[in-house]
Amino acid sequence: MSVLIAASAVDLGGGMQVRRALPTQRRRLIGAWCFLDHFGPADVSRTAGMRVGPHPHIGLQTLTWLLRGEVLHRDSLGSVQRIEPGAVNLMTAGRGISHSEESPSPHSADLHGVQFWIALPESARRIAPAFDHHPRVPVVQRDGLRVTVLAGEWLGEQSPARIHTPLMGASIAAAAGASAVLPLRPDFEYGAIVTHGEAFLGTPGDAQAQRLEPGTLLYLGSGHRELAVTAGNGDAGIVLVGGEPFGESVLMWWNFVARTRAELTQASRDWNDKAAYLGEVHGYDGPRLVAPLPPWMEPGPAEVAKHP
Ligand code: MN
Repeated sequence: MSVLIAASAVDLGGGMQVRRALPTQRRRLIGAWCFLDHFGPADVSRTAGMRVGPHPHIGLQTLTWLLRGEVLHRDSLGSVQRIEPGAVNLMTAGRGISHSEESPSPHSADLHGVQFWIALPESARRIAPAFDHHPRVPVVQRDGLRVTVLAGEWLGEQSPARIHTPLMGASIAAAAGASAVLPLRPDFEYGAIVTHGEAFLGTPGDAQAQRLEPGTLLYLGSGHRELAVTAGNGDAGIVLVGGEPFGESVLMWWNFVARTRAELTQASRDWNDKAAYLGEVHGYDGPRLVAPLPPWMEPGPAEVAKHP
């Protein structure tokens, strides 16, 4: 019993629109995947493109995968890394890191990609931060589908990305009309988004396949052994994520993943106070982002009344 969930539209700044498929009111996690952002395709030929100033993360990994264009990543470990289609950037925040992301100058006319977050389990959420660039990840050709294994293992191929809980993520480029049946693990829950075109996705229990377009998350749940994927009349791009149900309750605020409100409040304050553990990004031509106050810290009506 799969469900379709509308992604939310978010402005990343600089006119960069993203579709956020996780978290939503109806679904917070798929395995350890806690945040699925799909940006573009955007025409950035006459704009600065992506401009996300220095900001921190804790308790998660960010995985970046581009379909078109390029992004320059800088982080507080001193990494300066350009990413283009075919490569995976995996940043492990652990106990704390900061980074910026920008379109290099000059850059291609198109920008299209995804950035996903993976929640770190209790055993790993305070590890030392790290950044890994994987220029190539495994690709499998199957019945008109070109499957790139971004994280975890699928179709007999293992991504080199270092992860901390059982999960998988894959990008599927499907030629118009292509159709394939792909194996799933019944102990994993799965979800999918479409990055371009349209696709029909079905598991054996479904009365009919679900039609999926950009802007919608298809949550497939667990207990399935197969997924039938069929592209529409044009080429389609699909991203499938899955994982063992996370089993820990996660709280998210801004760019932080933690377990308690106190931790999120502290991290927000620490970033604005320039705490050393969140690091400093060098070389970005623009201001660092300011952590917004968590909603539970905003002055309530009583406090407002006291300070007219
Ligand atoms: Mn970030």
